[in-house]
Amino acid sequence: MAHGDDRGLVLPPRLAPHQVVVIPITRTDEEIVAVNAVIDTLIDDLKDIRVKVDDRDQYRLGWKFTEWELKGVPIRIELGPRDIASGQAMIVRRDTGEKQTIPFDQLGVKIAALLETIHHDMFNRAVNFQAEHSRKIEDYEVFKASVEEAGGFIQAHWCGNAACETKIKDETKNTIRCIPMAWEKEEGVCIYCGEPADRRVVFAQAY
Ligand SMILES: [Zn+2]
Repeated sequence: MAHGDDRGLVLPPRLAPHQVVVIPITRTDEEIVAVNAVIDTLIDDLKDIRVKVDDRDQYRLGWKFTEWELKGVPIRIELGPRDIASGQAMIVRRDTGEKQTIPFDQLGVKIAALLETIHHDMFNRAVNFQAEHSRKIEDYEVFKASVEEAGGFIQAHWCGNAACETKIKDETKNTIRCIPMAWEKEEGVCIYCGEPADRRVVFAQAY
């Protein structure tokens, strides 16, 4: 499903080309030199993370913040002389807008953990969204009629057989979105073939 809000994309960390964007906050040439030196050492601590440093000096700060929010980069790090003096960086989550400060010596560990947290939070929100915006359907004729009339998400039992998935896709253009492992088991029968199935999956129109 699409991830985004009124400020642009919100990319799940595991899929994001840039997981973290670092934005230096500097006014003078001296500050640029000092801040860049700290960024170089911090980047070493973030070596398993896909980091982009936006040190373009032709753009204003607000413009850069907006641009990276639009692109959906999961975490923004802001770093200026005051942060360097206090030995910690300002961290902003794209998905919630939440801000926190993290000491430099914990940055590698904390950012890696935060990326995992964001990923799981986004997954859970997506599952909840689907649950709230979907209908439970038990009968294939009703399934087909519902697709024609309303579209959206449908929760239906599926036996796990790829042949049923393919037939449903061919006949209704609906595909399985994700198998919500978080959901309770619920015995039933496959919406297509009638064989036993122990949980529902979410179907939605393929684009
Ligand atoms: Zn089946």
